[in-house]
Amino acid sequence: MIMKVPYNYLPMQFENYESIFSQWRELIGTAEFTLGPYVEKFEREFAEFIGCKHVIGTNNGTDALILALKACGVGPGDEVISVPTTFYASIGAIVAVGAKPVFVDIDNRFQMDIGQIESAITPKTKALLPVHWGGASPRMPELIEIAAKYNLSVIEDACMAPGGRVQDKHAGTHGNVSAWSMHPLKPLNVMGDGGMVSTDDDELASWMRIYRNHGMVDRDHNRIWGVNMRLQPLQAIVASNVLKTVSDSVSKRHKISSIYDDGLNALPDFVYVPKRLKDYRETFSLYMIKCESRDELLKNLVSNGIDAKVHYPVPLHLQAAAKPLGYKRGDFQVAEDYAKKIITLPAHQYLESDQVHYVLDKIKAFYLN
Ligand SMILES: *Cc1c(COP(=O)(O)O)cnc(C)c1O
Repeated sequence: MIMKVPYNYLPMQFENYESIFSQWRELIGTAEFTLGPYVEKFEREFAEFIGCKHVIGTNNGTDALILALKACGVGPGDEVISVPTTFYASIGAIVAVGAKPVFVDIDNRFQMDIGQIESAITPKTKALLPVHWGGASPRMPELIEIAAKYNLSVIEDACMAPGGRVQDKHAGTHGNVSAWSMHPLKPLNVMGDGGMVSTDDDELASWMRIYRNHGMVDRDHNRIWGVNMRLQPLQAIVASNVLKTVSDSVSKRHKISSIYDDGLNALPDFVYVPKRLKDYRETFSLYMIKCESRDELLKNLVSNGIDAKVHYPVPLHLQAAAKPLGYKRGDFQVAEDYAKKIITLPAHQYLESDQVHYVLDKIKAFYLN
């Protein structure tokens, strides 16, 4: 018998929207449709949640990255070190501010390989842009040490990191500025687009706050040429509601992921489960493993009703968009191997344990029968 194991949990998550509707009615009554009290309230709540001084809401995660890069003074002629294993936006944002992305390979946890950063640094290097890929985190304390040694800014792509930890701090609070996304498929999501930047630096914060809103200090005064990157109050209300559930949903994802880990670690000839660091808390935004015969396994799982995915089959240095950077096949072998073997299993907070065991049974049957 086929059991449905969906990847998309949004219809379940937003099933009870009445309370959000009633808060929206309140907002509509005030007609505060740009920035205002609901955005400020969410900014304070998220700052408290991650333990950071300043949070500034933006319209999405990509603009949050662009805002963070610009705040750190990254522009034409600069190089920014990042990874070929991430979503396009991490690299698109670097290019959008006129800088050049420089890749280093990933490690066996699918995160930026800290050991490769130093040899990628040139006199043009301005910043490091580590990604909390899948909701796991790179080795941030070591990365921060390298950045300090070479006087580089650290802009964290923390889009998948809400609810994560790196040692004694929330993930995404180690660098100079972090960018977050509230796209529907992130651990903290809204009903559309949303994002934010966070920082402990007062000067960076106040620059980002005014750049996000046309560079205005008030209606009649323009300090810098800025743009409109504002978070919408309607989404800020959703974000405030969802924020209350993030810790709980990450805990549920942890339970499901540890069932997967145990089951899959028993198949070492076919499946590679990344190591979980003891003092790191992953969000399991994407539950990813490497596996043999990935494309056949994917077909098999899908035909059994399991909505498995691939994030992503082509590493960024081999994408058409990366042609001008001059990379070639073989330059980042771990990332290339990852792209061939990676698979993402549904691991969201609405799965039942029989669904999780069904996925494991199908994977075992695929390799062992
Ligand atoms: C989702 C995501 C982004 C982009 O965020 P948007 O809100 O969709 O613009 C950037 N980087 C990573 C790692 C992401 O997961």
